[in-house]
Amino acid sequence: MSARKFEVTGGTQLRCKGWRQEGLLRLLENVLAVGEDPSNLVVYAALGKAARDWSAHDRIVQVLRTMDECDTLVVQSGKPIGLLRTHAEAPIVIMANCNLVGQWARAENFYELEKKNLICWGGLTAGDWQYIGSQGVIQGTYEIFARIAERHFGGTMSGRLILTAGLGGMGGAQPLAARMAGAAILCVEVDDARITRRLDSGYLDARAPDLDAALRMLDEARAAGRALSVGLCANAADVYPLIVSRGIVPDVVTDQTSAHDLLYGYVPSGFSVEEARRLRTSDPHRLIAESTASIVRHVEAMLAFQKAGAVVFDNGNLIRTQAKNGGVANAFDIPIFTEAFLRPLFCRAIGPFRWIALSNDPGDIARIDDFLLERFAANRSLSNWIRLAREHIRFEGLPARIAWMGHGERTELALAVNRMVAERVLSGPVAFTRDHLDAGAMAHPNIMTENLRDGSDAIADWPLLNAMINCSSQADLVAIHSGGGGYSGYMTSAGVTLVADGTSQAERRLRLTLDNDTSLGVMRYADAGYEDALDEASNKGLRSFSLQGGA
Ligand code: NAD
Repeated sequence: MSARKFEVTGGTQLRCKGWRQEGLLRLLENVLAVGEDPSNLVVYAALGKAARDWSAHDRIVQVLRTMDECDTLVVQSGKPIGLLRTHAEAPIVIMANCNLVGQWARAENFYELEKKNLICWGGLTAGDWQYIGSQGVIQGTYEIFARIAERHFGGTMSGRLILTAGLGGMGGAQPLAARMAGAAILCVEVDDARITRRLDSGYLDARAPDLDAALRMLDEARAAGRALSVGLCANAADVYPLIVSRGIVPDVVTDQTSAHDLLYGYVPSGFSVEEARRLRTSDPHRLIAESTASIVRHVEAMLAFQKAGAVVFDNGNLIRTQAKNGGVANAFDIPIFTEAFLRPLFCRAIGPFRWIALSNDPGDIARIDDFLLERFAANRSLSNWIRLAREHIRFEGLPARIAWMGHGERTELALAVNRMVAERVLSGPVAFTRDHLDAGAMAHPNIMTENLRDGSDAIADWPLLNAMINCSSQADLVAIHSGGGGYSGYMTSAGVTLVADGTSQAERRLRLTLDNDTSLGVMRYADAGYEDALDEASNKGLRSFSLQGGA
């Protein structure tokens, strides 16, 4: 078989029977073009795949190219199952990825089913073709650093030292987000090729030969109030304790290694990436035990930093859970980033919203940036982010932008863009998606819904309701994902995609879906008793029964 090429398609030439199908096809091509290991269909997070296998992928492509708007393609864990006759207002694609029944939702069952090619992990934005490269997570990470600066450092990260690890698909965003926030950051990464990749993409400023050199470079930058990111090729389970032993206390400490996966993700101390890969097949049990032992040391060092006064947080990679399973009883003294910094935003359904220029014309994103800067000038954090993103972010794959926007704002932007497509102000249609990590779309008791006020952390009804309302609201693609750490049992979430092709039908789909998606998010937090959500529901005129003190 000739080698596959992973390229995006631009322009306005349709290969499908309509823009809804064409848009989704371009997004599938895009996640592979910007993915970490496209020849294995892996987009990010060790095993987060765009399709089950190549034959499933090729069938999906063929169906998207030939299907009518009156049909709906059903995808089960990355495999196309069939076409169902629906109608022109129904979704083009619905999918369910990696959902296991509760009692069976354990890592060993996932791996067993994965080996039999019956299931695959879709990540949050891999399996439903929404990933836009590192920009998505840059905004989230930047948002966290901006909130930490506000809360702990008088509004600025200038002169502050951040310690983190992992420069993979998601983690690779950390150095750029820190630089945008004005900080100095040390990124420990065990795989030198990942450091090279981030240097080449401009996301990382420099590579240090050893820890001493790294700390020297960062100290100089801090003294000058200069932002700097430095990569160090080493194992975090060695470097974090070493820094503790020297009595150095960074201002902020976190981690983005693939700690959620003890077999395919985390690399234990004492092993090269290649040695860990070999052990995966020769002795997987030993690899899991070694990974757990390293994570224990890694998290103990994070706890020591916390005790010494650093702001320490878990950035959603399940490292606390793995450490707790390994015997670190107080691993959960480290807070999750959502609860620590972002919940007030989610209460107002403000979360990561993204748009992708299907034309592949960067000018389309620039024109939308201009519109946002003018229309939302009063929203300082939004306009500040757009200006920074314009300056610092290089597009990967199809040009795209992400910004944290809330109820009403998302709909207003999408409808304006749809008009710009119709009036040919833009060179082609634009797709809209939002992250699964969104107000009404995720139940993840170790990330999104940890320590909710009403104790409803583990109730997965919300993302299921979210997917149903988005189907009813005529979205183009709706997905239900499960998995998280060990790929099973940790979370349930829902994803949604819309194509703004300038038509009046698209206008209706955008209005219904985006309004309902964020309304449900506000209602979810209002139901959990958050004043911010009750305030938002009241201000925005939402028909939430929580406003009357329950139904
Ligand atoms: P990835 O697999 O692409 O990258 C992980 C990186 O960690 C790799 O480069 C690997 O070489 C490195 N690494 C592994 N063990 C290491 C060690 N001991 N020391 C130093 N480096 C080590 O994964 P990703 O897409 O970057 O995601 C990272 C983690 O973040 C995952 O667990 C993912 O689920 C999680 N994540 C969380 C959020 C969120 O909620 N904020 C969003 C996205 C991803």
